[in-house]
Amino acid sequence: MAAVIDSTTSSRLFDGPYFLSIAGKLVQTQASFDVMNPATGQVLAKAPAGSAEQLDEAVAAAKSAFKTWSKLSYDEREQYLLAYADALQTHRDELALLLTLEQGKPLKTMAEPEVDQSISWIRQIAARRIPVEIVEENDSHIVELHHTPLGVVGAITPWNFPVLLALWKVAPALMTGNTMVIKPSPFTPLTTLRFGQIAQSVFPAGVLSVVSGGNELGPQMTAHPDIAKISFTGSTETGKHVIRSAAGTVKRLTLEMGGNDAAIVLPDADWKSIIPQLFWGAIGNSGQWCVGIKRLYIHRSFHQPFVSAFVEYARQQKLGDGLDPEVTVGPVQNKMQFDKVREFLDDIKANGQKVVLGGEVDESRAGYFIPVTVVDNPPENARIVQQEQFGPIVPIIVYDEVDDVVERANDSPFGLGGSVWGRDTKAAVAVANRLETGMVWVNEMHTQGVDIPFGGHKQSGVGTEGGHEGRLLFTNPKTVLIKK
Ligand code: NAD
Repeated sequence: MAAVIDSTTSSRLFDGPYFLSIAGKLVQTQASFDVMNPATGQVLAKAPAGSAEQLDEAVAAAKSAFKTWSKLSYDEREQYLLAYADALQTHRDELALLLTLEQGKPLKTMAEPEVDQSISWIRQIAARRIPVEIVEENDSHIVELHHTPLGVVGAITPWNFPVLLALWKVAPALMTGNTMVIKPSPFTPLTTLRFGQIAQSVFPAGVLSVVSGGNELGPQMTAHPDIAKISFTGSTETGKHVIRSAAGTVKRLTLEMGGNDAAIVLPDADWKSIIPQLFWGAIGNSGQWCVGIKRLYIHRSFHQPFVSAFVEYARQQKLGDGLDPEVTVGPVQNKMQFDKVREFLDDIKANGQKVVLGGEVDESRAGYFIPVTVVDNPPENARIVQQEQFGPIVPIIVYDEVDDVVERANDSPFGLGGSVWGRDTKAAVAVANRLETGMVWVNEMHTQGVDIPFGGHKQSGVGTEGGHEGRLLFTNPKTVLIKK
């Protein structure tokens, strides 16, 4: 029998132990699992392994809470969201520290901005509304389009941006009148468990629950009869399982999945000045970024000087524990991903591709450290070009003709993001418009915002997060036709 702890417990939030948050209570579990610190390869903490029954309890509580939460006005829900943002703000430093410890990302340059952006996101979305639209009106009738909440939303999140990607879902789902159960990645559950814990002192019981555990909780959620929608961020392979499983209950789905984003540096680009942006676009978060630059196409006219300057910039970075203020590139988040990225390095070596930086893992070093690796002009059919590496390896690939590079960039089952760089903005935009992706940045990198839709084409996604379009996906359109 699981112990139930009152959510007002006064023990310090960040000393452990960790709890599930279900129906306004902090709940212990019989089973637990290890969460590793990727910078040391050592166990950081034990996380609660929620059972199938506990997930059911969370869904039942969310279903019950929906009855009243969905009836609140936008203004009332706004007050709750703002109070939640304030409560998170109070624990901002601890959340960021915990994020670095479990995820590995540098504290000052990555973890703190992730927490700050998440809190800001909640505040901004709290101010957004989906008004009733009059879609037709004449002498005899009026037609109104309402957007009603769906019910219980299940959020399934990955390990690369565990705070941001979860709160991207929480804020619009709750604001539009849904309730939510989050299942974080088993690799990074701790920060999510803590912000779930904080939520229990702000929201009515059942509005936001967090259940951590193994991957098996995912299929339970996607098949659950009382979950109306799954908002999923993760790999394309898992996303396909989600689609199959959700069919049984005709769930709404938003899927944010893998990518193999191309950056195209045009012949007229001021390439020297953009090297830092390109480097961080590829290597930020140790390359574990769905919209990271995974293929960097440069024009042959500046091939050698570009590669030299890129490598020179890369050499100035320090690989290490994200708690070290001098470190700019952290470890890969988990052993599974570390092994996957090493397979890319093995493949690069086995095929004789030219490595101009990195390439060798220091076997004597504890933790999951992969050095920043730059591969000079691998063939288009190389694994590092065709597949998502999701690690700190960047292939710099040479092209001659713009038409050809556009074709190569589009020749992918993925279609998440991309970027185009050139002095002539109009010409760069024309190239951007030819890319088959959900997002494309022109002469900037990774700008995002609450009113900017974020989502993938092809096998990178279904639907969008962010923007009015993303918020609408947490609602059902409901047409009301009234005779005057
Ligand atoms: P993953 O697919 O392995 O896991 C994602 C989540 O799905 C985890 O919470 C996991 O426990 C859960 N899960 C596992 N099996 C499941 C199943 N059968 N049914 C339901 N849920 C299941 O992905 P990951 O390794 O955590 O994340 C990396 C991937 O995520 C990369 O491919 C990356 O490109 C992608 N990603 C995409 C975006 C985006 O916005 N498009 C953002 C971040 C990451």
